[in-house]
Amino acid sequence: MSYTALYRKFRPDNFADVKGQDHIVTTLTNQINANRIGHAYLFCGTRGTGKTTVAKILAKAVNCEHPVNGSPCNECEMCKAIQAGTSMNVIEIDAASNNGVDNIREIREEVTYRPTEGKYKVYIIDEVHMLSTGAFNALLKTLEEPPSYVIFILATTEAHKIPITILSRCQRYDFHRISIDTIAARLSELLKVEGVEAEEKAIRYVAKAGDGSMRDALSLLDQCIAFYLGQTLTYDKVLDVLGAVDTEVFSKLLRKVLAGDVTSAIRILEDLIVGGRELSQFVGDFTWYMRNLLLVKTSDNPEEAIDVSSENLKLLKEESEMTDSDTLMRYIRIFSDLSNQIRFATQKRVLVEIALIKLCRPAMETNLDSVLDRIRVLEQKIDEHPVQQVIVQSTGVGEGSAEQPKPAERPPQKAAPEDLQKIVAGWKMIVGQTTAAFKQALLQSVPKYNGETGEPILYVEFQTPLGRLYPDDSEAKKELQSIIEQKLGKSIELHMLVAEDHQQTNLSQITVDQAIRDNIHMDVVIEED
Ligand SMILES: [Zn+2]
Repeated sequence: MSYTALYRKFRPDNFADVKGQDHIVTTLTNQINANRIGHAYLFCGTRGTGKTTVAKILAKAVNCEHPVNGSPCNECEMCKAIQAGTSMNVIEIDAASNNGVDNIREIREEVTYRPTEGKYKVYIIDEVHMLSTGAFNALLKTLEEPPSYVIFILATTEAHKIPITILSRCQRYDFHRISIDTIAARLSELLKVEGVEAEEKAIRYVAKAGDGSMRDALSLLDQCIAFYLGQTLTYDKVLDVLGAVDTEVFSKLLRKVLAGDVTSAIRILEDLIVGGRELSQFVGDFTWYMRNLLLVKTSDNPEEAIDVSSENLKLLKEESEMTDSDTLMRYIRIFSDLSNQIRFATQKRVLVEIALIKLCRPAMETNLDSVLDRIRVLEQKIDEHPVQQVIVQSTGVGEGSAEQPKPAERPPQKAAPEDLQKIVAGWKMIVGQTTAAFKQALLQSVPKYNGETGEPILYVEFQTPLGRLYPDDSEAKKELQSIIEQKLGKSIELHMLVAEDHQQTNLSQITVDQAIRDNIHMDVVIEED
């Protein structure tokens, strides 16, 4: 028995069947009825909310020979040709893969020719935020003086990335997330047509899992039907197909990633592929899962922020305790980048694998959030092993310092110039051991010393205004000093200062460079550990 995906089979072909976007449908049909059609539309909204569907219906409606109450008749030659994708009047462009100036120039040349049949040439540009700056500029020229027979429909999930010059020339329509009730009602309707029996509770669960996206809900329903073909769809069966998969697998995968276990993470991916999981969807789902974790982690009332069952919320709370927000944000960033790349990629699996490796190995990246993640990994290691041992190994402080001084008493021996050099080289790791806001300030600091005089003084120069809080903070100073002294096994004098640019003008504070005058030995190159 052959099976057509519900999403394709029941894609609405007239405005009446578009669910949950009444505000848009009403405006558009009114425009068509009054023959006041715009030349540039911007459709914004999350995936699966009907942007391209409405764009296609609009393209048919404006060309239809006998429109019915603003909707296309779907009977005339024009409607049929557009429906079949054979009409020259409707041109769909995916900006994700055609984002260059040349692609838009091509359009600009084309629009000079009137349509040979029908009334309007309709250009639907999907993922329009992916256009390059040059392409946007080229598009702008066309939007400024569009021929009367041309309509542009720009669709995007990320409206904030559209230049204001383009926005100001478009009628903007925001597609809402579709409510669970609306999705559930549509699913019941389609199941009846398909002759599939299903429990109300099962349908609602699928609708909920669709998370505001009709397309996602339909594709989830497809999975359930395919799995239990010819049987009544019960709540338990749906849970079997959907519930278990997501929460359990995602939780397992996240734990492996947090542990930096690349092999196991890749193995879980392998299992998913063998299980027939569609990779683009997996990427979206895992991103959403991490987004929920982040909300649970950062929100006082996660119940209100995310729409999951109380059982799932309990699990999410457990998971959120295992990581921190910076790490989650880094993971989410990598996976959202991935979801953009993967849609039209041929080597989807390789892309997902690379992303998983990036998650497991923050050292492969150099931006701030991955540095924070590296610190997390280091802190974890430090928690697991005695501090002295880890530091001695990773920075190669000489054998003489291996004896651990008691934290309370200052080591008798003073630091030598080589010691200062080691501190500078291992600065990142020292900063990683400090706490909270002080750490944030230190992440933007530069350690310096006077290489000529060899005096055992370390100058810490804060590079941001945040650093102003610390030069007079004796507790912070003690914290940093004790970390360094434990590491060296030697005593050191510490001076904290703020870089000139960020000093408050009324303070006559000296800068580091003044302090160590012209013969400064600056070694700010922080080596990899
Ligand atoms: Zn028609």
